[in-house]
This record gives sequence, C-alpha cells and structure tokens, in this order.
Amino acid sequence: MSLHDLNWLVSHSESKASKMVDQLRDHGITHEELLALMGSIPRHEFVEPAFSHLAYSATPLPIGRNQTISQPLTVARMTEWLLAYSRLGRVLEIGTGSGYQTRILSHFFNKVHTIERHEPLYVQAKKRLSSMGIKNVEYLFADGQMGWPNKVEMDAVIITAMASKIPLALTDCLKQQGILIMPIDHPSPQIGCWRKEGDRWKCLGTEPAYFVPLLEGMEHA
Ligand code: SAH
Repeated sequence: MSLHDLNWLVSHSESKASKMVDQLRDHGITHEELLALMGSIPRHEFVEPAFSHLAYSATPLPIGRNQTISQPLTVARMTEWLLAYSRLGRVLEIGTGSGYQTRILSHFFNKVHTIERHEPLYVQAKKRLSSMGIKNVEYLFADGQMGWPNKVEMDAVIITAMASKIPLALTDCLKQQGILIMPIDHPSPQIGCWRKEGDRWKCLGTEPAYFVPLLEGMEHA
C-alpha cells in the first residue's frame, strides 16, 4: 500500500468514526469521554478484513470463527451502564472476541480480566491489544462459565454472549453492589444491567440487542 493510499484510508476511517459518534449521540449516549474514545479506536482493525469498510456502521460484524462484534450502540450502552453504576476497579469480561469491548474497558477500569473459549480469537485479541500498548488486561483461554481462577472478587461482570441460564461462578465472584451486564433472550433478545443487593438483583436498565450464544467448553485452532 502506498503512503497516499494509507493517508486516504486513515482520513476516511476518521470521518466514518465521527459519523458513528454522531449516531451514538442521536441514540442517547452522552458520556463525552466514552464518545471520544470510541471515535478514536480504529474499529476497522477489529473486524474481518473483508468487512472493514462497514466497521463503523450500526450493525454487528464477523470477527472470525462464526462470532460477531456487537454493533457500536450496544457496546456504548453496556459501557455507559458500567460508568454510571460500577466502581471502576476490577471487571471480568466473558467473550473477548475481537478485543474491542476489552479495549474500551481497559481505558476506564484499573484491571480487566477477559476470557475467550476460541483459541484463535484469544491469541489474536491478545496480540492486537498488546500491539496497541494496552497493559492492564489479563487474558485467559477457557470456558468463561467457570469464572476467573482463584475466585478473584470483581466490581463488575460483563457477559457478551447469550446464556440460557446465569453461570453461578459469575454471580458468586461479584462483590456486593457489584454490577452484572448480560444478554437475556426473554421476552425478546436484549441486554440488561443489574446490581447485586444481598441475594437480590436490582434491574437498572435494558436495551434490545442480539448476541451469539454462550457455549460450553473450549475450541482449539
Ligand atoms: N466482546 C466481543 C464480542 C464477542 S462475541 C467483542 O467486542 O468483539 C461473543 C464472544 O463470546 C465470542 O468470541 C465467543 O467465542 C465467546 N464465548 C461464547 N461462549 C463463551 C464461553 N463459555 N467462555 C468464553 N467465551 C465465550
């Protein structure tokens, strides 16, 4: 690729990214630091190359291994909930996928723990974020339903795949007043945010969204 082509690609991506930010504002995302961050992250580097021209569009996109990156509004909404309700200490993400949500979490939380069950996605996301200079993330190739080893206590847990039931290991590791963000498919596909209050869960918000399923076990290359 010539320098001219590279310059064109970069400026073209920047204008698409600023349109994406305008759309997020139109849909009620108001957190300025989050909007600025999403406007600056090269989202086209997180999707399959054949879809990079659509990276800033309001749609989920393939990231390999039949998995998808959530559309920007869903990512923004989940993050805004965390920023509104969670302590920004330690967060556990189930479903590293492309690493896009991980990259955003790493900006706001002191420490991010992220688990992926597809080995090639785990390897790629780790390499991608390391090359971007991200240092406060711990990666694990495992079935995320088992939780993080050694029962580390979390301020927040975010599940980015649709579960039919909530894995106990993921609610047990949450501190009191901790925040759980996860997709549910009843009564229709949506993402929700809950606060752990004793042995009860207070719902703080929901938003329509579609996710790939949370699956058992691990898949090697
Ligand atoms: N947050 C991701 C979205 C990835 S899609 C991003 O920003 O790109 C959901 C991811 O969850 C997929 O990569 C899928 O492989 C992973 N996944 C599904 N079940 C899982 C499980 N039990 N443990 C860990 N990861 C899982």
